[in-house]
Amino acid sequence: MSQRKAIGIDLGTTFSAMAHIDQYGKPQIIPNSESERITPSVILFEDENVIVGTLAKNNSVAEPERIVDFVKREMGKPKDQFHREFGGKVFSAEELSALIIRKLKSDAEKYLKEKVTDAVITVPAYFSDAERTATITAGQLAGLNVLQIINEPTAAAVAYGLDKLGEDQTVFVFDLGGGTFDVTIMRIEGHKIEMLATNGDHRLGGKDWDDVIVNLVAEEFDREHGENPLLDLQSYQDLQSRALAAKIQLSSRPRTAIIHSYNGKSVKVELTREDFEERTRHLVERCKTICEIVMQEAKLEWADLGKVLLVGGMTRMPMVRDLIVQLSPMPLVDDVNPDEAVAIGAAIQAILVMLDEEQASGEQVLPDDTRQQFSSREGALIQVTNITSHTLGVVLWDEGQLEEYVYPMISKMSAIPATAKNFFGTASANMPKAVVRIVEGESTLPAECTPLGVCDVELPPFLPKGSPVELVYEYNANQVLEVAVHAAGNQTKVSIERNTGLAPQEIAAAAAGIAELSVS
Ligand code: AMP
Repeated sequence: MSQRKAIGIDLGTTFSAMAHIDQYGKPQIIPNSESERITPSVILFEDENVIVGTLAKNNSVAEPERIVDFVKREMGKPKDQFHREFGGKVFSAEELSALIIRKLKSDAEKYLKEKVTDAVITVPAYFSDAERTATITAGQLAGLNVLQIINEPTAAAVAYGLDKLGEDQTVFVFDLGGGTFDVTIMRIEGHKIEMLATNGDHRLGGKDWDDVIVNLVAEEFDREHGENPLLDLQSYQDLQSRALAAKIQLSSRPRTAIIHSYNGKSVKVELTREDFEERTRHLVERCKTICEIVMQEAKLEWADLGKVLLVGGMTRMPMVRDLIVQLSPMPLVDDVNPDEAVAIGAAIQAILVMLDEEQASGEQVLPDDTRQQFSSREGALIQVTNITSHTLGVVLWDEGQLEEYVYPMISKMSAIPATAKNFFGTASANMPKAVVRIVEGESTLPAECTPLGVCDVELPPFLPKGSPVELVYEYNANQVLEVAVHAAGNQTKVSIERNTGLAPQEIAAAAAGIAELSVS
């Protein structure tokens, strides 16, 4: 087989980044064709052309109806729940993400002057099975072999740990990005990086801070002119980018002014950092609560931690840094660039996965110098252990209570890959089939969990009531679930009919559709 080239992709809510391992074995960020180290995750549709990145972002004010952003928040949703239509074509969240990945892939190929075949793509640690599956699909639609999906904090710790291996310590990864918040506790011991606990909120991020400014200016505009400037999409987008710029200014300056014009009228709002911090205190409090929960889950005290690793652009904000200083006495680490750490960790992980594959198959696909660089590091290769971020259960019938309940098969925080087996009795005699309903979530009430899908399993005839059916859940390294059912000697690997995303048989057609578009 010919040589392969892998990259690491940080597919972010607001920005994406990519990295590779160069010929000296060093991880490097790959700039896009605009020479930027990060690419806005914004898509602009222009007839048959799709533009991704800064040019699209700059057009978001002028042509809001042809723009798609924040796609990451929609990942895993079925097409009927989320789609965008352009030029008569309907795009699902994974197809839109695939367009962003295609831009990254083709820019990487231009920069590296070789074909990019493989990628590790990162996702927030609390991404569900559906969101992870959709991310893998997006990579495949963009023409990549997705080696693995890894958690963003794990990737950041890998990027950080590469130089620090040997210094045993527990690291708190605080990742506040444009749209998501993610905290993870990792243990670096020898050459092992182990995830101890993780929690997060995928509706909390820089955008929420921006929205506070947007609403403040809109209210002031309404007070002065009796008109709501947010009802007009163009004015809304314009105000959003002004708010974001004001927020960033307030990270380095004590005050700023936001001027917004709409319908021939304008308003000027002065904002001090102090006032802004007061108005967004509730958001920081939400971060704090999640940090405390994750510490409890890990059964650790703040004094047990060695370092806090900052990831995500929002960690540049003084109020966010103050929160961390207030929570813990340990030093902050920002020698890893918060915008770049995740992509770099993904690029390292890509090489590690390929080295594993080489060892398993005996076939060499990596350039010799990369293999040597990684294999010659003293001792063993970095081993990464992840844990599950959600409980995976099965819906069962409670004969006593006459109601359905969720039986947890793989509990939250189990080491991955995880396998769980259990026997269940058939509910009645001569059942033609067992319908296994798979759910994700911590509750015992089916309605409070997220349905993942259904497996329909034919049962042999004449089984008495209570006949044992063995259910096997296998959670693989990508944190995607596979289910097998064994009933009366029959073994069936069941494909889950997921309620979400594209079905496997739809992927080829969708990939062809994506390939037809010109993406730049
Ligand atoms: P990420 O998703 O990690 O790229 O994070 C991007 C978020 O960080 C966006 O909401 C940006 O507005 C925000 N951000 C980037 N730089 C700064 C800064 N210096 N001060 C405050 N927020 C920032």
